[in-house]
Amino acid sequence: MLKVTKLTKSYGAVQVIHGIDFTVPEGECYALLGPSGCGKTTTLRCVAGLETASSGRIEISGQVVSDSERGIFVPVHERPIGMVFQSYAIWPHLNVFENVAYPLRVQRPRVAKSEIRERVNSVLNTVGMLKMADRSATQLSGGQQQRVALARALVREPKLLLLDEPLSNLDAQLRITMRNELADMIQRVGVTALFVTHDQAEAFVLADRMAVMNGGFIAQEGSPREIYRIPKDPFIAEFLGSANILRGRVGELAPGGRVALHIHGGPDLTLAYETPVSAGSEVDLVLRPERLLLSAEKPEIDTNVFEGRIRKLSFQGNVTECEIDIEGGLTLRAVSALDDDLVEGMPVWVRAPHATVIPAKQ
Ligand code: ADP
Ligand code: MG
Repeated sequence: MLKVTKLTKSYGAVQVIHGIDFTVPEGECYALLGPSGCGKTTTLRCVAGLETASSGRIEISGQVVSDSERGIFVPVHERPIGMVFQSYAIWPHLNVFENVAYPLRVQRPRVAKSEIRERVNSVLNTVGMLKMADRSATQLSGGQQQRVALARALVREPKLLLLDEPLSNLDAQLRITMRNELADMIQRVGVTALFVTHDQAEAFVLADRMAVMNGGFIAQEGSPREIYRIPKDPFIAEFLGSANILRGRVGELAPGGRVALHIHGGPDLTLAYETPVSAGSEVDLVLRPERLLLSAEKPEIDTNVFEGRIRKLSFQGNVTECEIDIEGGLTLRAVSALDDDLVEGMPVWVRAPHATVIPAKQ
């Protein structure tokens, strides 16, 4: 449905997109996730036709809409897209119905009045706003404005829905509710979507697949689960959530996909690994705090075990975060939902049933 090939974009002498490639199959929701300034919005605006790419090609639904070498540039209003932005740009002087009807009213050739009524009502129904069709836009809550913006983006039945940080104007609680609702609505409509966010939780909930962007490049692409579980480098690991990152050296490769690992400033471990590593090389070990198991007794399984002492506990309601000093000067962070037996200063065993070993960047 969307194919972006070798896309670059420069503003003057400054290149901000460095030749990125990605494809979004029909019906999928794809997220561009990355820190502020990494080029997400610029990419989205190139797809929309609000910016002209410096080079590369963009195809939407089989049609080349941008190809700088062949001099092709289809303007924004001729692309089969709908857009939702961070600021919803709901018109205050129009009611809900008219806000959503607007794209159809300006469409040429003209859309019949009866068809406009039918299509607007149908899409308002989809987003749960049909009962508020006559409500003035100034009387809407943030969540309702968000739905109206979505309805307006969908009313022309676009082949591709583009969303740029659509939830970032909402307060924290509503954001969580709305991200689930948005995921439901996108799925119900079945529209192909390209979604931009700096919030990893949003990408996890909404995306079938995603690209983590950094400095105008795609750093890693995959399903949210894949990338969270096997990040390609420490930047990605930490951007996607809390992570303990330990540097170590690979000893020998043991049979069964296991590796002997000497952690600098820590113990020797035997670990299962999922990314190819070679004997003698430096690696980064990624341990997710929520994956670490704590016990007062020495675990029966003695691989991937660290011996330490709880330095600090911070109670966070649903979980307690523990900082654990490991022999040799390492500190590990763990989170535990079952903190009843934990006290600061107590000796503790930490087991890591899952660890990701990735080749270290020198
Ligand atoms: P993101 O959406 O990931 O936060 P953007 O795509 O908005 O990032 O911006 C990427 C980079 O391009 C930033 O360094 C930004 O300052 C720069 N940039 C964006 N728009 C313009 C512009 N119109 N002129 C010059 N630089 C721009
Ligand atoms: Mg942006």
